[in-house]
Amino acid sequence: MDEIRIDNLKIFAHHGVFEHENINGQNFFVNAVLYTDTERAGTLDNLELSTDYGSVCTLIHKTMTQNTFSLIESVAQKTALEILKNFPLIESVDIEIRKPEAPVEMDFESLSVKIHRGWHTAVIALGSNIGDSRKYIENAVEQFEKSEYIKDLKVSDLIVTKPYGYTEQDDFLNGALICKTVLSPHMLLDFIHSIENSADRVREIHWGPRTLDLDIIFYDDAVIDTPDLTVPHADMHNRTFVLEPLNSIAPYYRHPVLNLTVSQLLEKLKKND
Ligand code: ATP
Ligand code: CA
Ligand code: CA
Repeated sequence: MDEIRIDNLKIFAHHGVFEHENINGQNFFVNAVLYTDTERAGTLDNLELSTDYGSVCTLIHKTMTQNTFSLIESVAQKTALEILKNFPLIESVDIEIRKPEAPVEMDFESLSVKIHRGWHTAVIALGSNIGDSRKYIENAVEQFEKSEYIKDLKVSDLIVTKPYGYTEQDDFLNGALICKTVLSPHMLLDFIHSIENSADRVREIHWGPRTLDLDIIFYDDAVIDTPDLTVPHADMHNRTFVLEPLNSIAPYYRHPVLNLTVSQLLEKLKKND
């Protein structure tokens, strides 16, 4: 990926854990690497096809002077997010915040935090079978729409399906969505849990009735095996109620372990049934 670089942008701001830092302020230096495809802009020599680094500098300045954070971690996080939200051609950024006047009684050149943030593709399965299922799912979708950590949301139609696993319960309403997110996989899991909780979800019988169930199906082509998160979702390839709606919005998405696309997985599952 091409890079646009901003080196040591000097900004006077008021971040710090100590009160005197918030009152008096000090100089910060920002290094930014903007990862973006510059080929079209470079070929046609047209700024409108690229990202104006002057505007990025202005945005960094505004973000750092209109907010006061305790931590340079937060300064970096907020700055990265603002750049990603406001400049759609930028796929990811490195942001380094240097603090040469940090209140540490020793000799040093500067103290700094450097982070990398970017847009990732996430696929989420949606399900509900208690109460006003359509409402629960629509509310969930709305929370995705409203979130500043999400963009380019595409939602499937919802379909009625028979319960899976524990069958002594009402039919389900199922769907799928695909979006871009700046959240890491575990932050995305926290986000969907908070949406489930706001839908009065109580965890009772595994695979039992629920007001709202949101599962992470894919995250880029990541393969994740941790105690609280498995991606791709471990059982998605056996579930018509996941593959069918997903096939309507992302048939081309390739399962990174099984090496089959969603449409191939669905075809295979239908054949075996
Ligand atoms: P299934 O995952 O088989 O569809 P379920 O959705 O009924 O079952 P839950 O009770 O909703 O299971 O979730 C149990 C735990 O599964 C969650 O708390 C979460 O930590 C974990 N989990 C692991 N991988 C995922 C994933 N890809 N998406 C969502 N939750 C996951
Ligand atoms: Ca589930
Ligand atoms: Ca779940």
